[in-house]
Amino acid sequence: MDLQFTPEQEAFRQEIRTWLAANLDRPWNEEVRDPKHDADSLVEVRRQWQKKLNAAGYLAMGWAPEWGGRGAGEVEDAILQEEFHRADAPQVPNFLGISLLGPALIHHGTEAQRQRFIPKMLECEEIWCQGFSEPGSGSDLASLRTRAEPDGDDFRITGQKVWTTFGPWSNWIFVLARTDMEDRYGGISFFLMPLEQEGVEVRELRQITGEAEFGEVFFDGALAKRENIVGEIGEGWKVAMTLLGYERGGSTLAYPAEYDGYLQGLRAGAEEAGIADRADVREKIGRLVVENEVLRGNGIRTLANFAAGNPPGPESSFEKIGWSEYAQRLTDASHDILGPQAQLTAQSPRARADVDWAYQYLWSRAGTIYSGSSEIQRNIIAKRVLRMPTR
Ligand SMILES: Cc1cc2nc3c(=O)[nH]c(=O)nc-3n(C[C@H](O)[C@H](O)[C@H](O)COP(=O)(O)OP(=O)(O)OC[C@H]3O[C@@H](n4cnc5c(N)ncnc54)[C@H](O)[C@@H]3O)c2cc1C
Repeated sequence: MDLQFTPEQEAFRQEIRTWLAANLDRPWNEEVRDPKHDADSLVEVRRQWQKKLNAAGYLAMGWAPEWGGRGAGEVEDAILQEEFHRADAPQVPNFLGISLLGPALIHHGTEAQRQRFIPKMLECEEIWCQGFSEPGSGSDLASLRTRAEPDGDDFRITGQKVWTTFGPWSNWIFVLARTDMEDRYGGISFFLMPLEQEGVEVRELRQITGEAEFGEVFFDGALAKRENIVGEIGEGWKVAMTLLGYERGGSTLAYPAEYDGYLQGLRAGAEEAGIADRADVREKIGRLVVENEVLRGNGIRTLANFAAGNPPGPESSFEKIGWSEYAQRLTDASHDILGPQAQLTAQSPRARADVDWAYQYLWSRAGTIYSGSSEIQRNIIAKRVLRMPTR
């Protein structure tokens, strides 16, 4: 494992820092605290940010140039993500399109589908959400029941999706639905569907954080055109597996950079409370700093693996467990150390530290569920890395 970045990679890091200094108006944390914003105007800030990134060639870095990327490797992408998280840049609204659907279209889509969907995805003219999970079909995704019935050349979709991130702001959804109710894997097809049509209803789901960035999506005979099936009929599972490979791959250096900012906030909060020198506080923060370094070291090991030409494998489950469970330990510690102070929201007049700990505490609970829960990740490690017997 080579832990050094090359001079070219360091130069790229410098290029990103210079660009961010010139183009990021203010950190996301400040944007969120600005009382002039509501949920819609924050999405608009993110949309404008995505357009800027696209114009600068910093969106979809790994895609081939013919599709609007720059054909960069995973290491450059990870450096970019690390610097963006360190600077607390906004997340682009079309992250599900760019990180999941785009690569799946490039692999499995038709030329016409790529031409039709990719440019509008990059420009954020169409926002995508992911319609995979259903009530009762999450970890065991292949048990999904939403059905697609033939209607002339096309299909009619009936069923329910849930936990649809960004559903309330999306215009399109990629959906797994059954073209055969009996064949567990071979009966699933992958559809691209507009949300603004008869037979589709998106309902907001409000989370424990107070936000409603999720939706439930109900289909009642909604139209799915044959030309918008990705892959062949019955190949949806294969397309979905390509796509989920991307979902589990790409965190490497981003989370440690983000957590580094939170650790600084925690130190500042402890100092303001006059408890930074207490032995128990020093021990807790010290332990978290070391654990975050381990996370970053593990991320660099993954990158070294990529750089040696190896594709992402089941080892990425270690990373998923690492960053998601760390976030919970970090936010637990914030409450142990700062006490009731940690419950003041960022908007509260008496809030001191930059980090909205109450929000982060609640949000970190989701990390061990989405993109495959911790239990599922441990199953993957047991079976595919450790090769343990199943019984
Ligand atoms: C923040 C967030 C965003 C999401 N965004 C989307 C989205 O945009 N689109 C989408 O389609 N879905 C989305 N999801 C849904 C997500 O994919 C599912 O929540 C996840 O797959 C778990 O499924 P479930 O909630 O049905 O829980 P279940 O699968 O019912 O699991 C319940 C519990 O049982 C455990 N369990 C299940 N199976 C096993 C097993 N074989 N061995 C051991 N333990 C097991 C799980 O670990 C969990 O603790 C999102 C979820 C969250 C939290």
